[in-house]
Amino acid sequence: MRVLDLIDDKKRGREHSPAEIEWLVKGFAADEVPDYQMAAWLMAVRFQGMSPAETAALTKAMAESGETLNLEGLPRPWLDKHSTGGVGDKLTLVVVPILIAAGATCVKLSGRGLGHTGGTADKLESIPGFRTRLSAMEILESAARAGGCLAAHSASLVPADAKMYALRDATGTVDSLPLIAASIMSKKLACGAGTILLDVKVGRGALLPDRKKAAGLARTMVGLAARSGRRAVAVLTPMDQPVGLSVGNALEVEEALAVLRGEGPGDVRALSIALAAEGLHASGLAVSGTDGAEKAARMLDGGRALEAFARVVAVQGGDPGVVFSLAALPRSRLSAGLPASAGGTVAAVDALAVGQSSVLLGAGRSRKGEKVDPGAGVALRVRAGDRVAAGDLLGTVYAADSTRLRAGLARLQQAFVWAGSPPAADTPFRTADQVIEVIREP
Ligand code: URA
Repeated sequence: MRVLDLIDDKKRGREHSPAEIEWLVKGFAADEVPDYQMAAWLMAVRFQGMSPAETAALTKAMAESGETLNLEGLPRPWLDKHSTGGVGDKLTLVVVPILIAAGATCVKLSGRGLGHTGGTADKLESIPGFRTRLSAMEILESAARAGGCLAAHSASLVPADAKMYALRDATGTVDSLPLIAASIMSKKLACGAGTILLDVKVGRGALLPDRKKAAGLARTMVGLAARSGRRAVAVLTPMDQPVGLSVGNALEVEEALAVLRGEGPGDVRALSIALAAEGLHASGLAVSGTDGAEKAARMLDGGRALEAFARVVAVQGGDPGVVFSLAALPRSRLSAGLPASAGGTVAAVDALAVGQSSVLLGAGRSRKGEKVDPGAGVALRVRAGDRVAAGDLLGTVYAADSTRLRAGLARLQQAFVWAGSPPAADTPFRTADQVIEVIREP
């Protein structure tokens, strides 16, 4: 086989065989297929798509590209969670502690920032000392001690995804249904959980903004789980406006911690409870969605979810002082406020513009392998419905240098939609606190 032939076939929309896909993925994971050829193939997939059989073969090949975890020694139910990616989407940092506190074992491989969306692994690494690069043995040992583990794909765990993910991020090949489905589900299958909770984002700030496409992604992932004897539930949630008020790595950890302490924005709490409820119900820890929501709220209000998060942080080498407000999270050296130039009512805050601003500030990557700035990002001061006077602060941006600060600030300025202005009338911006649809069948 030759990579060039596979690129050519895909470019012309021809279907690959499972053997061809396995050969390509293995070769790429083993550094035998160079980045430039893989990037060309990814772009061909981005435009031509993949058949269900190709997507299943890609997922399997990626899941088997490294070690897989055997959870047999850990208490059941084994429950995993993943988001398709959003702006300000720190929900994993709240939902996973709720699930652990409610009795689930959560062993999870998270992604890094992708395009304009943030990644849980980058967020967690903003906690001083926190390690996400763990061996299979370390993951199992951490989960045994803390009830769960939040790790990242690596050279030994789903290495094909680790390499492909970084390449997609830097080559504009992120917004592809089969590539997203295979990336997420390969990590979920390699981790071994019997139940998988998927948060599928819909709207301007999502990787697949269109509702029909997002629902197709949800059904594809639920179907991939079923093919492997797992149960998945996919919850479609809005991503037109950022989740919460903070966007950036340490900024989002801070906000997630506030919600775990019973403070923080209401939409983050409401969505976390809604997602956790579905996970608890699907895994048998709750008898219904309503029971799941009540249990989830109790885990938050009684402080047990915060304690679960503190255990995960401590076991994975993070500074536990961060959890109890005793130690500071990093914050970039420079900051600038964005004042309103005139009075008015905020009709919406565009998640895509805020996400792009955050990447420009240094919270995401523009080149493969680039280091993210843990302290960079956007702290919004207003949300849809807020009335402001001229000069009121709309948000603050943080960056390590003035070039980044200026670029991020300029992009953030374009994020605000004002009541009465034309885009507000014809662009529906859903608020980030409601479930759109729950999909349980492929
Ligand atoms: N999360 C992932 O792990 N992969 C994607 O492609 C998108 C979101």
